[in-house]
Amino acid sequence: MKIFSTRLHPDLPIFRLDSDDQSYIYTPGYSCVVTREEADELHSIFASNKSCFSASLEKLTTSLENSSRHSQEEWQKLCEMPFEPVCLTIYLSNHCNLRCSYCFAAPARLDRRMDKSSLRKKRVQNIGLPVIQEKIAEHAARIVASYCVQKNRPFTLVLHGGGEPTLHWKQLQRLVSLTQDVAKEHDIDWWGYIATNGVLSENKVKWLAGHFDMIGLSCDGPPMIQDVQRPTIRGAGTSKVLERTARLLKQSGTPYAVRATITPENAEYQLEIVNYIYGTLGANTIHFEPVFDPWDTATSKFLPADAENFVMGFLSAQRLAKQLGCELSLSGVRPDEIHGPYCNVLRDVLQLTPDGVVSACFLCTDGNKANDVTISLTKLKPDDTSFLPELDRIAGIRRRALAIPSQCFQCINIYHCVRECPEGCPVTNEDYYPRPEGFRCQVYKRLTAEWIFRTTVER
Ligand code: SF4
Ligand code: SF4
Repeated sequence: MKIFSTRLHPDLPIFRLDSDDQSYIYTPGYSCVVTREEADELHSIFASNKSCFSASLEKLTTSLENSSRHSQEEWQKLCEMPFEPVCLTIYLSNHCNLRCSYCFAAPARLDRRMDKSSLRKKRVQNIGLPVIQEKIAEHAARIVASYCVQKNRPFTLVLHGGGEPTLHWKQLQRLVSLTQDVAKEHDIDWWGYIATNGVLSENKVKWLAGHFDMIGLSCDGPPMIQDVQRPTIRGAGTSKVLERTARLLKQSGTPYAVRATITPENAEYQLEIVNYIYGTLGANTIHFEPVFDPWDTATSKFLPADAENFVMGFLSAQRLAKQLGCELSLSGVRPDEIHGPYCNVLRDVLQLTPDGVVSACFLCTDGNKANDVTISLTKLKPDDTSFLPELDRIAGIRRRALAIPSQCFQCINIYHCVRECPEGCPVTNEDYYPRPEGFRCQVYKRLTAEWIFRTTVER
């Protein structure tokens, strides 16, 4: 399953890939098919910095050099961009009505040294877990709204959680209306997204459909998977309620997407998962994510040797999705976009944890982890409406997140890869270095190569 790609240019990100029958030249934003001889010639032109001989290759080298310079500039811009959040993401709390087998949220972070049965108990009881204060949320909304005005962007509210945001129903409704009021005061549009596990009453589903622009549902597949990986805290199946939620959303006309966590247990059922999410849940947009295990607590995790089967399953599922008329994606590599890891500070997201910490890292669902000074940007207080982002420190976080490890210079994903985030974090670990043959790294290289093979047209 190894993909052989070679960097052709010493200074510019121009790569050669060979499939069984063709050679491809790739730089972010541009790719083309060439003969093996042309690929060899391009290699020698770039390696020796000599001028081109044939007219057709001359045109091609110019296009490649222009595109690769453009992508370098875009990367540079990303590195230098100031943090100007236009999206407010609120993790309301870490309370939850489910007990997913792989949950990476707060309980595991309250004390990661706890044994698993203690962690589970903590989660079931939802003891002592804070809930966001509305005054703090309003304060954060004003900060975001002022950036939206400056940048002429709509206000985006994302409700999420290390738990289930709809468990705090009254508060959720007030957060929607208070952020809408703030957007109105600033004379900007409001756009809302909520991520839910879908295990909620009919009335709540209807309300969400009437108030949010987009809804994200989590579902790991047909009942035989969903009920095992995502049961209620008492161990009951959740698929029936989830199916009802999806039906109500379909009837409402509000767009929704389904995210499935792929684990070593359900990886071989990727086709069945797409069939179920499209056929039974009626979703046209599906995201698969290989399970995150940032705290190394999962009982079952992907190993490098699993990469090939995962990719084969994912590509088949993607083909099926296309035949059915829906879209299946995975967020770790997005070749049509210049991007780095998932850090909030790279995506203009002001993320509030339930205890009012503004976190640079999406993984922090409570202030415990965010107390790590590296990723806690500040702690907002209800009575203090000032927010002076420490721009130098944020710039430092961005630089660490976007530092390109030496092995990635040789890789087609150089400018569009989350690397090993969240299991490997260059922000909190200065010695971070992605494992060249790690599971994610292999998967991302292979998926991008397939994407290039599929989307490149003949010259
Ligand atoms: S790179 Fe680190 S700080 Fe950034 S999102 Fe990933 S785990 Fe969090
Ligand atoms: S982490 Fe792996 S896939 Fe990503 S850019 Fe680096 S070498 Fe490529």
